[in-house]
Amino acid sequence: MVDFYKKILDNNKRWVETSLESDPNYFQDLAKGQTPPLLWIGCSDSRVPANEIIGAKPGEVFVHRNIANMVIHSDMNMLSVLDYAVNVLKVKHVLVCGHYGCGGVKAALGNDSIGIIDNWIRHIKDVYRLHNKYLDSIIDENERFNKFVELNVKEQVFDLAKTSIVQAAWRNGQELTLHGWVYGLNSGFVTDLDVNISSERDLDKVYQLKF
Ligand code: ZN
Repeated sequence: MVDFYKKILDNNKRWVETSLESDPNYFQDLAKGQTPPLLWIGCSDSRVPANEIIGAKPGEVFVHRNIANMVIHSDMNMLSVLDYAVNVLKVKHVLVCGHYGCGGVKAALGNDSIGIIDNWIRHIKDVYRLHNKYLDSIIDENERFNKFVELNVKEQVFDLAKTSIVQAAWRNGQELTLHGWVYGLNSGFVTDLDVNISSERDLDKVYQLKF
């Protein structure tokens, strides 16, 4: 453990050196400010690092991660990140990226109590209940798990669209598109789930806010 801790401190020194070798002003330029075009909402899973997957450099992606890439309307952390990204940084894209083999989604399929996290996982169970007829009809367990991961991402994209933050931006004519992806731990490739929402008209009428 100490070795790992020492290693990451050394890694940092080396990273600074290499970065400065290719551009002596690298950090000075980054310190001036950020205008990332993308907000990434992903899973906390250590195998799904936002920047590396999409080849984004520091300054190119604003990141929020939690267990199972959830968009929960009472989560002040998520709402604050979203508000800042949309209204201050003026990102053009918000992307929910889930991943196959997600431990949070797997936990939602089971009934074991794990601790306080049960209350977080419950939101994923709500997605199952919404699609239970379809999901229960899938015989193969692995396939059902994969489809659940995909549906969870789609529902989180819709949950983003339901927020007052996103709808107010659309109402103000701001260019903002929401997307859903699933990352394959086995392949490294992402799958675009083709839920590209850029208007409140894609939501059920009951969710459409009038300002
Ligand atoms: Zn996960």
